[in-house]
Formats: sequence, C-alpha cells, structure tokens
Amino acid sequence: MSALPTDKPHMTFLFSDTGGGHRAACEAIIEAIHCEFKDAVITQMVDFLKDYAPPPFNHLPEAYPDLVRVPELWGAMFDISDGRSQARFVTSIFWPYVRRAARRLVNDHHSEMLVSVHPLATTFALKALGKNRPPFVTVVTDMVSTHALWFDHRADLTIVPTEMARQVAIGYTMSPEKVLVVGQPVSQGCNAPIGDRSHLRKDFGWPKGKKVILLVGGGEGMGPLAETAHAIDESGLDVCLVIVTGRNSKLEAELKEQTWENPAFVYGFVHDMPDFMRAADVIVTKAGPGTIAEALIAELPIILYAKLPGQEDGNVDFVVSEGVGVWAPEPLQVVRALTRWVCRTNERQQVVKNCRRAARPDAARIIARTLGEKVGLT
Ligand code: UDP
Repeated sequence: MSALPTDKPHMTFLFSDTGGGHRAACEAIIEAIHCEFKDAVITQMVDFLKDYAPPPFNHLPEAYPDLVRVPELWGAMFDISDGRSQARFVTSIFWPYVRRAARRLVNDHHSEMLVSVHPLATTFALKALGKNRPPFVTVVTDMVSTHALWFDHRADLTIVPTEMARQVAIGYTMSPEKVLVVGQPVSQGCNAPIGDRSHLRKDFGWPKGKKVILLVGGGEGMGPLAETAHAIDESGLDVCLVIVTGRNSKLEAELKEQTWENPAFVYGFVHDMPDFMRAADVIVTKAGPGTIAEALIAELPIILYAKLPGQEDGNVDFVVSEGVGVWAPEPLQVVRALTRWVCRTNERQQVVKNCRRAARPDAARIIARTLGEKVGLT
C-alpha cells in the first residue's frame, strides 16, 4: 500500500495487542494529535505482529493472555532477554527471519513519521527503514522497568513516562538529550473534572453511601482477581465491589454466577474506564502502567495485588515511592490496606494528595505537540 494521495503529513504508529496498554497509549496519542491539529494530519495504527510478523510471532497477541498466566515464565523470559548485549543478540538472530516482513511493513506505510509504541517494533522497523528515512520516535509505555529492546540509538527521540525510566535509558547509553520525560499517555476522557462521584454511581446503578472498591486485572483480567474479590467480600467491610474482568470472559461468567455478601457488580471489558475510576474510592489492580496512570488522574488510591515479574516490578516501586498506593500480593494484605483507607479518612486523603502530585494528565497532549513539531505542524 502506498501513501494516500494527500499533502497532509502521515504518521504511522506501530503497536500490538499484547496486553491492553500499547493500544490504549497509542489511541490516546492519536486522539491528542487530532485535538491539537484537527484533521491536518493523517494517522494510522498498525498491529505489526498480527498483520506482518512471520509465524509464530504473528500469534503473539492471541497467545499473550496464556503466556502471562504463568508469571514466573514471563519474568524469566524478560530477565534473560533484558540488557544491552542480550537485546542486540535477540535482534541480530531474528533479523534474517523477520527482515522481509519488516521491509514490507515500512514499504506499505510511506509516512512522514513513524512512532513505535512497542518494544519489539523499534529496532526491526529502524533496521528496515535504513538511513534515508523519516523521523522515528519511540514512546515507551512501561513506567520504570523498561526492557532494553525499547531503546535504539537510531531513534530521533525516545519519550518515557518517568525520570526513573529515563535513567534506565541513559544506563543503556542512550544520549540524554534524546530521551524526554513526559508521562504515560492516557485518553482525554481521563481529564474530565472529577466532579460529583454520586451522580456517576447513580448512572451505573451502584448503591449510595458505600465505599466503592474497583477491581481490575488489566485488559486481560489477569492475576488472582477472584480470590482477592472474595477476600474483600468476606472481610466484614461494608463496601460495594465493582469487578472488571476485561477480555477474560471465562472469569466474567464465573464471577457473575457467584453469590456475594456485599453488593457486587461484575463487568467484562468496559469502554468507560475513566468514569469507573472517577466513581470509585479505591482501585485494586494489577500493576499495569496504563491503569496506574489513569488512577492517578482520577485521584484514586491504588492497591497493587499482582504484577508481571520483571516488566512491572518498577511500577510497584513507583507507586510505593510516590506514596500513591501499596503493594499487597496476598488477599489478606489487600484487605488490611483497604481497611486502613476505609476507616482512616485522613490516611486516604494524604494518598489522594500524593496522586494529584504524581499525575501527568497532559502527557498525551505534550507528546502530540512534540510529534507535530517534527512534521512541521507547529
Ligand atoms: N481497560 C479498559 N477496559 C477494561 C479493562 C482495561 O479500557 O475493561 C484499559 C485500562 O483502562 C488501561 C488498559 O486497558 O488503559 C490496560 O493497560 P495496562 O497498561 O494497565 O495493562 P495491560 O493490559 O497492558 O497489562
């Protein structure tokens, strides 16, 4: 496919549906670009794994939920491949196998700019583009423990969500002036004023006068969501449970069948997560970067009940060090943290203040303006 016949600049975004975070970040940037520049630019998202990678890599998006259900295995794969020389080794041995697909990808999408929103896309796309290429920007969507595969010296700019991630990049000998800390891009819907939670609760049909505990396991409904929900339900706390299972429809069906002591609302994949967050009092979640960034903007204290070893270790450090939440890998620890925040309003208020300080609501708009500048839109 060649570029559409128009004089507007084209931007191609390389992402893949391994988890919900890459797509969410990519859509947030594109939404912000169109808010900033209206239709002065043409944007396109390409799932480079599903649509271009040779087998078995093209099956990674559908295999991802099963792969991460064995977190130890995922953590081991992350650790073995992380590091500058390991990343170079991985990209060199796979290059002969993926070269043709990578070249087809870049030839199909002649653009004025390419943006990688996935660690597996960056180096292969840069190799396929060669020397005579348009500007190339990487937007890192992991908060702190950013895998070495994200970083390639040839990228014109690498945008990271936190100062901790910038230090990791510099550790991989990226030039400091080409690594910019902006924040995790989230949808513009997250930036609506928090307003009156009771109106939203009424719209959702949740009961009045109870603390609302929102449970989420990322886009795929991962981690011990059921055990954690039941531990809260049986704890004696007088709360309302809102459980979002994402694309894990088996878990959704199971939880809908079960009986609960407290009012409990079970949902599959929801498309109005910012409203769910604004209507809740506390979030109990897997340590996904997108969910954490959105919760900070919604001023929602965070209890992390699960993480992907390696990849999400740093997210836990970030949440704890910013004072915006706690790490509670056992259901009993979740209940304990929750009890403190439900019973001691002052403690919860301090965490809410910390969320306000750590939130980066304008990240997507800043990224959009930065990309626009590179194609002459400002
Ligand atoms: N999400 C959503 N609806 C759901 C579950 C999740 O919109 O039912 C969104 C969530 O708001 C976040 C993304 O999916 O933007 C999940 O990204 P995260 O980085 O937290 O975790 P991942 O799924 O990539 O592990």
